[in-house]
Amino acid sequence: MMGQGRKLANERRTSLTACVLGQDVGHITREAIAYGADRVFWADDPVLGAYRTGPYARILVDLVRRFKPEIFLLGASLRGRDLASSVAAELYTGLTADCTGLEIDGENGLLRQTRPAFGGNVLATILCSRFRPQMCTVRHRVFEMPVADSSHHGKVIAIRGELPEEQIATRVLDFVVVHGEVNLAEAKIVVSGGRGTGGPKGFDLIRELANVLGGAVGASRTAVDEGWISYDHQIGQTGRTVRPDLYIACGISGSIQHLAGMSTSRVIVAVNKDPEAPIFRMADYGIAGDLFQIVPALTAQFKKKLKS
Ligand code: FAD
Repeated sequence: MMGQGRKLANERRTSLTACVLGQDVGHITREAIAYGADRVFWADDPVLGAYRTGPYARILVDLVRRFKPEIFLLGASLRGRDLASSVAAELYTGLTADCTGLEIDGENGLLRQTRPAFGGNVLATILCSRFRPQMCTVRHRVFEMPVADSSHHGKVIAIRGELPEEQIATRVLDFVVVHGEVNLAEAKIVVSGGRGTGGPKGFDLIRELANVLGGAVGASRTAVDEGWISYDHQIGQTGRTVRPDLYIACGISGSIQHLAGMSTSRVIVAVNKDPEAPIFRMADYGIAGDLFQIVPALTAQFKKKLKS
């Protein structure tokens, strides 16, 4: 998002500002500058330690009202989606959620915000001409990661929020940590299962292969809807976008909505018993066959090879 923000700012001949909110997040201000920010607003406060919509939205709304940016981007993460809608409503401006393309319109200088619509069958390009800022959330990993430049200079401006705890409507009482699974968004290898896995038992095979490869487990929406695995594993238009070095799709047909979340993976391997399955048109390597034989065979081979 910083890389794309930098490009947009250059085209509009303006500066790029990053907002860094949280507790003990000073180091992120330096990263933001290295990735292209000219200025960083930095709010560091214990009240911001755990994410809550109220205090985060309040700070951002105040900043936008004061500094009046043309464009305001947030990540389309769970938090970003939550925060963006709250901030946009408060500012009474439009919000384009889940953008996969952003560019400046040469004629009028407006931000062309592109997102998939109608089940991914069309790409809608949206302009926000009457309200400011032009706001959108940006899908994770749709833009290339920029190269950090530690010689880039920027200004850090500390923001003091008046955020007494008693004025915030929500309290964080506890955190429950789920151990043992690789973070899907950051994984370099993702092994995904679909309807072809036939149930939670089939997913044990997917999990074993992912474990041997040090990868994360993904799923199609069908597998999630069936309750075979939790929603946070869903990949696709209404799930997560991933861009691993290796994506192994097992028992997944390759619907356009699934492809929307993984088609930019570096190498795609598909395992499907139907040689005509659409996923094979996208795959770099295809294995036509029964996943219940192929996946354990792959796991066994990788175990052997990776040990030696
Ligand atoms: P299927 O399409 O049923 O394919 C199962 C595949 O498994 C078949 O190709 C079959 O040949 C193969 N198979 C069966 N048994 C075996 C076996 N033993 N060995 C090997 N192969 C086998 N889907 C998503 O994934 N992500 C999304 O984010 C998403 N968002 C959507 C949003 C909207 C608005 C809509 C309308 C749909 C969305 N979908 C999404 C659903 C999508 O359209 C498909 O229905 C879904 O992706 C199909 O999942 P699947 O490939 O697991 O199942």
